[in-house]
Amino acid sequence: MANMSVKKNEMPSQDPHVRNKNFNEVALGYSEEQALDEAARCLQCKHRPCIAGCPVGIKIPDFIKKISEKDFEGAYQVILEDNSLPAICGRVCPQESQCEAHCVRGIKHEPVAIGRLERYVADRHIALAKEAKVNKPQSNGHKVAIVGSGPAGLTAAGELAKKGYDVTIFEALHLAGGVLVYGIPEFRLPKAIVQKEIDALKKMGVKIQLNVVVGRSISIDDLIQEGFEAVFVGSGAGLPKFMNIPGENLNCVYSANEFLTRVNLMKSYRVDSSTPLVKSKRVAVVGGGNVAMDAARCAKRLGAEEVYIVYRRSEKELPARVEEVEHAKEEGIIFKFLTSPVEILGNEKRFVTGMKCIEMELGEPDASGRRRPVEKAGSEFMLELDSVIMAIGTSPNPLIKMTTEGLDTQKWGGIVINEDTGKTSREGVYAGGDAVTGAATVILAMGAGKTAAAGIDEYIQGKNK
Ligand code: FAD
Ligand code: SF4
Ligand code: SF4
Repeated sequence: MANMSVKKNEMPSQDPHVRNKNFNEVALGYSEEQALDEAARCLQCKHRPCIAGCPVGIKIPDFIKKISEKDFEGAYQVILEDNSLPAICGRVCPQESQCEAHCVRGIKHEPVAIGRLERYVADRHIALAKEAKVNKPQSNGHKVAIVGSGPAGLTAAGELAKKGYDVTIFEALHLAGGVLVYGIPEFRLPKAIVQKEIDALKKMGVKIQLNVVVGRSISIDDLIQEGFEAVFVGSGAGLPKFMNIPGENLNCVYSANEFLTRVNLMKSYRVDSSTPLVKSKRVAVVGGGNVAMDAARCAKRLGAEEVYIVYRRSEKELPARVEEVEHAKEEGIIFKFLTSPVEILGNEKRFVTGMKCIEMELGEPDASGRRRPVEKAGSEFMLELDSVIMAIGTSPNPLIKMTTEGLDTQKWGGIVINEDTGKTSREGVYAGGDAVTGAATVILAMGAGKTAAAGIDEYIQGKNK
């Protein structure tokens, strides 16, 4: 019989006052008992609406049924048919606007905790499965290059390697994983999980060349000349935007990307880190998305006493996941809604001392359908600070476009593709993920990598008929 409890099983978590001083994972994961209890909330609906909410179409009722039958490995295999990174998606997918938004149980009460169940199954597999022997697929003799090792590039590489392609990933940084390693903090996504996925790809024969900036160290044209029959561009959207207000070039004004890279990739919180950060007591993060929440929560963990989120709209319009906002509040982050920075102020040594802000009110809806924030005359006030982190968005880096003949991009930098195949305007070059859409989500980048891998396979096989 179904469990008709109106609420999801709570996720066990570290105490907020303890976790805001460490980088260990916040959400601790379900026990077997909790997973079974949550699985029993699923009604096994005949029309399966939840599947339509998952960008990669995981057969959600089927994997939940396997959990109810205590066939946890069977549940893992069902998920794996459509999603190669379940331990990652179970943690970072915006489930509330995807699969769980379509769950029938969510119409009146809380939906089934699909993401938490996915995480449980994946973590159990990682913890208990014997080191699986990966059979290296038989080579089909064709070479493909992948630019970037984020979720789009890793997924494309995995799909192509399974079909026997000789795949090489070229990654600009010294560690593979893209935003999964340099952006999303350890306390939301432990890096050991990402590393496991990368190791599995290597076992399948995927080669990874680190510290190679395509467009500088080597161009896409060079790669094609070297015998790669197709190239997939999954270079993400890592170019930060700034507000262009006075004082943005002062010391201790960071882009969120720089700040998070220093913390997550370069481990600046360790005393032996070669990329330290100036210790800050009062930090403001400008923006309201997941990136802003991550930056604020990292700043708190680095020892800041007061950390502000400065956001120009109201709480209702915050683009960050509700769960991340709740976690940030519990950890003591102070929210300044309807507030916009005007100027960053500094001392004679050009270090930040404060930020002049102005209060906002919401006017008529703009092109995005959200009410446009307008300044409230005479409402300026000062925040005393020693660091400011700008988290107001990113766009694709123009380097690849500038160095690749015949590659069409949108005005804002996104690479233009055929959505059914991932094909760009340049023969043999495919693209997907944030490099095409601008900043989006892990699961959408993975879906794009999968589509492009199928497009590349069709292209190469067609050419060689
Ligand atoms: P990326 O992950 O950006 O990977 C691109 C890779 O390409 C990088 O490793 C980069 O170094 C490399 N590269 C770039 N240029 C070159 C070049 N010229 N040559 C070689 N390599 C190159 N999404 C969610 O679903 N849930 C979340 O909770 C979430 N939180 C986020 C938090 C932060 C702080 C950030 C920044 C993003 C977050 N996102 C989240 C968004 C998500 O991480 C991205 O949408 C996703 O990673 C995009 O994947 P990608 O493979 O397209 O690009
Ligand atoms: Fe939901 Fe994401 Fe899992 Fe799909 S991959 S079922 S959207 S958590
Ligand atoms: Fe289960 Fe909800 Fe999907 Fe129905 S919609 S099958 S209750 S997860």
